[in-house]
Amino acid sequence: MSSMTKGIVAANLTQTYSAGRKIWGPRESFHAVDRVNLTIAEGETVGIVGESGSGKSTLGRMIAGIENPTSGSVTFWGQPYAKVGTPEWRRQRRDVQVVFQNPAAVVDPRWSIHAQVKEALSTHERLPTLEADDRAEAMLDMVGLGAMGKRLPHQLSGGQLQRAVIARALVLNPRLVVCDEAVSALDVSVQAQIINLLLELRERLNLSLMFISHDLSVVRHISHRVGVMHAGRLLEIGESSTLFDRPRHEYTRRLLAAIPADSPRLRRQRDMQSFGGASVASTPISPALS
Ligand code: ADP
Ligand code: MG
Repeated sequence: MSSMTKGIVAANLTQTYSAGRKIWGPRESFHAVDRVNLTIAEGETVGIVGESGSGKSTLGRMIAGIENPTSGSVTFWGQPYAKVGTPEWRRQRRDVQVVFQNPAAVVDPRWSIHAQVKEALSTHERLPTLEADDRAEAMLDMVGLGAMGKRLPHQLSGGQLQRAVIARALVLNPRLVVCDEAVSALDVSVQAQIINLLLELRERLNLSLMFISHDLSVVRHISHRVGVMHAGRLLEIGESSTLFDRPRHEYTRRLLAAIPADSPRLRRQRDMQSFGGASVASTPISPALS
């Protein structure tokens, strides 16, 4: 797909971290992400699953352009990513937004959510105040928070706050949104609402989405294609239904069969209200699947 210009092309992406130093001898390093090739087309949602520590978030940060790879490259609608921190990099920032797990950690507790959405706009565009107000309001409307713009973060529920964070990300009209465990901290019913919101916004705005989650049923529901990370490698990637119904790798089969090791309450909720996704059976392949 090297001729594809509309979308993201990651080639041989590798991230090497230091693993600390033995008392004597050289610093040891390991590949958190190891020679990953991945494309995300315009309007496409690619899900990434894998155990805790498999390199999902590191891959996401490199695809989002907020961390330089040790080697390899990311091309974004035909343009290579600039080095983190350069003026060119700052210009590229508005086209890629990231939504993390914990919305409370990324908002300013002292500002209304309207003010924060508006602020996101004004860091990238010089706009007359009235126009910025209008666009912030329209965006909050779109995520179902039209009546709540004046509220402070602590006056919102977790789900509402994540909607506000999504509004702040999307008001910039990005091409790509990287969601890293974006619904993992929310109750299952709220997760479903946020997923539906993302599905709706994706259509309306023709977004490309990278959707990282350890929750396989959520990933299956939202993704066109799904990739499986294991020890820094992209083990396999394929159409969502194909991957879930006919995984090629034994590792993927075991991953699909494993119960996410979260609370018994969440597990019960998931059993009762599944997204129609992965089977729930057998033993986890690792103590922590998150
Ligand atoms: P996942 O999101 O799949 O849980 P991560 O990408 O967070 O995996 O981490 C992959 C591996 O890289 C882990 O072993 C983790 O401890 C390590 N790692 C992640 N970020 C850093 C960092 N900034 N410095 C050193 N090691 C890191
Ligand atoms: Mg992670």
